[in-house]
Amino acid sequence: MRVAVLGAGTMGHGIAQVTAMAGHDVIVRDIETEYVENGLESIEDNLEGGIERDKVTREEADAALERLSGTTDLAEAVTDADLVVEAVPEDLDLKKSTMADVEELVDDETVIATNTSSLSITEIASAAENDGRVIGLHFFNPVHIMELVEIVVAEQTDDETLEFAHEYIEDIDKTPVEVTDAPGFASSRLGVALGVEAMRMVEEGVADPQDIDTAMELGYNHPMGPIELGDVVGLDVRLDILEYLREELGERFKPPQVLKRKVRAGKLGKKSGEGFYVWEDGEIVGTSGDRGDD
Ligand code: NAD
Repeated sequence: MRVAVLGAGTMGHGIAQVTAMAGHDVIVRDIETEYVENGLESIEDNLEGGIERDKVTREEADAALERLSGTTDLAEAVTDADLVVEAVPEDLDLKKSTMADVEELVDDETVIATNTSSLSITEIASAAENDGRVIGLHFFNPVHIMELVEIVVAEQTDDETLEFAHEYIEDIDKTPVEVTDAPGFASSRLGVALGVEAMRMVEEGVADPQDIDTAMELGYNHPMGPIELGDVVGLDVRLDILEYLREELGERFKPPQVLKRKVRAGKLGKKSGEGFYVWEDGEIVGTSGDRGDD
């Protein structure tokens, strides 16, 4: 089939890669040629890495690259597509206008998926006339490594679209979970709940970040503890999600003061060099002097 991916950034290029690897023709659209090229280069780099690690053969990689192309022209990207996956920035108005623009250009049967990580699929779908064809496909970063995709069913999503989504996700060798459109879906809601309680424990002086993380890594086999994960995702991103979930789901998602202080101080985690931990060259080198009293 023919798949159009809108946005060649972190998620878009990954979605394009796994779809081309599964044998589909994929066209990636971004707003600047440079962004399209960067996305396609990232795919090449990922595939080279896969060849080095014996995960992908040279022939498979070359065949996938043959099936991939890029453009800045929306009509060129989506006309004749069986599936359009949008991975444009997380902005409700942009998502809605993208939905409406795409719908003008595609057939009635084309399925339109959104990779939003937090916005309401039902609200995004409301921008489409034929809204039964809209569904959420929540991929995880890095897409070529992470096995999970949440299939998020909007109020309007029809049965054919849902069935199509399951077939596509299985076809690209990912594992789907089906979730009704609700704030935080399944993954973010639970992940953030764990993270927020861990931060409160730091704030109350129950344990150091390192000990909380080790407890979850060794006691529950989590690959990474909740405090470290917050630093990796970005504390500003965590705070935004918490504020949204608090508004939608109530006070149990109230952001802890320690998190607000960190963000106000520009301590955003790995990307800024300090969050709950101190980071150097992408590695933890110490714990920020914080038991809730900095
Ligand atoms: P990103 O900033 O890396 O990429 C977005 C790309 O979209 C950019 O290259 C930008 O130039 C391009 N773009 C902007 N307007 C466009 C338009 N009108 N048409 C086509 N392209 C356009 O962002 P990202 O991290 O890839 O996130 C994309 C979406 O995926 C967001 O909705 C985000 O919430 C979601 N998401 C992100 C992650 C993550 O870990 N990064 C995980 C799951 C879902």
